[in-house]
Amino acid sequence: MNCLHCGTTTSNGLALCELSQMKAAGCLEYLPVYFRNLARWRPGRAGSRPVPGSRVLYDGETRKTDRVSAALDEIGAKIVGWAMALADDRGIELPDMDGEADQTAALCRILAEHLTSIATLEWAGTFVAELSEHEDALRALTEDVAPGWYAGGCGQCNSGTYVIPGLTWVKCNACGVVTYARDHLDTILDEARDWVARPKALAEAVVAMVDTEQSVIRLHKRISKWGEREQISVFRRADGDGDEIGPKRFLLGDVMDMLRAEGQTRTNDDATDTAVAS
Ligand SMILES: [Zn+2]
Ligand SMILES: [Zn+2]
Repeated sequence: MNCLHCGTTTSNGLALCELSQMKAAGCLEYLPVYFRNLARWRPGRAGSRPVPGSRVLYDGETRKTDRVSAALDEIGAKIVGWAMALADDRGIELPDMDGEADQTAALCRILAEHLTSIATLEWAGTFVAELSEHEDALRALTEDVAPGWYAGGCGQCNSGTYVIPGLTWVKCNACGVVTYARDHLDTILDEARDWVARPKALAEAVVAMVDTEQSVIRLHKRISKWGEREQISVFRRADGDGDEIGPKRFLLGDVMDMLRAEGQTRTNDDATDTAVAS
């Protein structure tokens, strides 16, 4: 049998070779991240705000704005289409999700879980080719409208690199080398300390960069708690009367300081324990 995507002879009895399946899995992992980041920066959204250092996304009716919305609408609909095709062919229930970013993430996860099954369907080749196109399109768009935080010079070619909040990797646009975001942490934090965002976005960005933080949900809760206790500065919008409205937002710099302070306490506790034990 030949791979429906790349034409290579397959020995796995499926219509997609291992490499093409891995390609699809990679696309399904990255697509929702790009999608969510772009959706967050869509104008008119609560909490949408360009990251410091990035170009301003929205200034009235600009073409750029339309490009982001159009791409998200189109690619979101395509993902729904593929998920429905899978549901039809395999009798799977699709979840009802609120919000296009959550929906896209959920559907990509389902598609990824059924990749082996998809690899036996006649649309598998077109599926991989289109996913790959979508990923390229969203990545290009992301780099264009939201280059993210400056992450320092590329280790290979010394061009400036940028990290997108929520991504665990940094890709050099000049030479294509990919490195871990955590290896750029100090540089990123210099620039990103002033980023004000809702706890979930902050938690996503921190978990992507900081090895010791593993759970977005847990960190999200901790940030909210710090905010309630006013251990970190709280930012909210004010309405015409000066009353605070809208969701609470916090500074990335404050969150990093809290994490560092907690880490310090933990290390000291460990040291005390050791001293007592010995
Ligand atoms: Zn292949
Ligand atoms: Zn480079």
